[in-house]
Amino acid sequence: MVARQSAWESAQIQLAEAVKHLGLDDGTHQLLATPRREMTVSIPLRRDDGHVEVLRGYRVQHNLSRGPAKGGIRYHPSTDIDEVRALAMWMTWKCALIGIPYGGAKGGVTIDPRLYSRNELERVTRRYASEIGPIVGPEKDIPAPDVGTDDQTMAWFMDTYSVNKGYTVTGVVTGKPVSVGGSQGRGGATSRGVMYSAFAALREARVDPREVSVAVQGFGKVGGLAAQYLHDAGCKVVAVSDVKGGAYNSMGLNPAAMLRAIRGAGMESVAGYPGTDPITNEELIELDVDILVPAALEGVIHDGNADAVKARFIVEGANGPTTPDADAILEARGAVVVPDILANSGGVAVSYFEWVQDLQAYWWTEDEVNDRLRAIMDKAYDEVSTLAREQGVSLRTAAQMIGVGRVAEAHRTRGLYP
Ligand code: GLU
Repeated sequence: MVARQSAWESAQIQLAEAVKHLGLDDGTHQLLATPRREMTVSIPLRRDDGHVEVLRGYRVQHNLSRGPAKGGIRYHPSTDIDEVRALAMWMTWKCALIGIPYGGAKGGVTIDPRLYSRNELERVTRRYASEIGPIVGPEKDIPAPDVGTDDQTMAWFMDTYSVNKGYTVTGVVTGKPVSVGGSQGRGGATSRGVMYSAFAALREARVDPREVSVAVQGFGKVGGLAAQYLHDAGCKVVAVSDVKGGAYNSMGLNPAAMLRAIRGAGMESVAGYPGTDPITNEELIELDVDILVPAALEGVIHDGNADAVKARFIVEGANGPTTPDADAILEARGAVVVPDILANSGGVAVSYFEWVQDLQAYWWTEDEVNDRLRAIMDKAYDEVSTLAREQGVSLRTAAQMIGVGRVAEAHRTRGLYP
């Protein structure tokens, strides 16, 4: 069997497709295919028992042509430089697609955060923040949460950067707690955006949201609230899962109650939730539902299972969940894939609002944030679906064409130095 396409290969294939449709020259293609700046750091960590262990961290700034770099920080055991490169490239297209003035970046530490104490994670974060300190800042590169990190991680990052500077710099990261310069609405923003883009796809296909069934892979920061919002809006969420397994009920689940059980009552996983049948992550992907929301990691829909995916709509809460091989299979069967750089862009959209509020020290209400988020997402969806129709391409290719095209145009307009 041929090896599955990695995140970096997938990102390159998607870029090449957009470049072909846009008719860009080889030099521009090369420029867009190559990260602008990469930093690898070692992070010596004193464990709670006193011994020292050295972790590896990365920050990749893929492109800076439209503004400072922007993108999350991931703590995951399989994170490596190639994955971070791919995620950074996707951030560049995402920011350009939704029209916010950023380039793209991503950071990561190769660590399984579940195996470390809170104090150890604080030390990892502070050392990582210090190490990449020289290349980040509100005008340079603004990190945010991603898989394995959260608002507390951002608070530690902001504090470390600020202490090193000698004054408080709230705008160095987004996704912070509201008490230290975070924005109203940031916590649920990615999930809200997943719902808006799912509903835009349903509207286009003239499907009533109250008649659809949904499966969500990944009941974490993005998938958990996406399941809840979709349920609250009238969809029937029949399955959700996390790393440990999944829960299924054909009559529908109550995601809010499941979130409470996990966050409040200390349940470790949705697997085994009362009143549900067990389901594996693999089975969930192949469930006979109307909407599938992959909201965990890359490459979960691939050439080995795309044939078995039955959902008519795949709304990508995660970055890179569908490989290009799988995309081709899904497209041939007429499935609608709402691509990651559109479907999950609500997070970085509200990150942008947070940064703007930090720079101005002027705070918006949650309604203001949510209304502006909806406006950004609906506009981006319309632009993507219009181009897809005009050009006879998939939503993914159309979204990539808009993102890549805007970055190429910025390069053309600015010119090459020297
Ligand atoms: N990690 C999120 C993403 O992949 C958010 C990034 C940000 O807010 O900068 O889009």
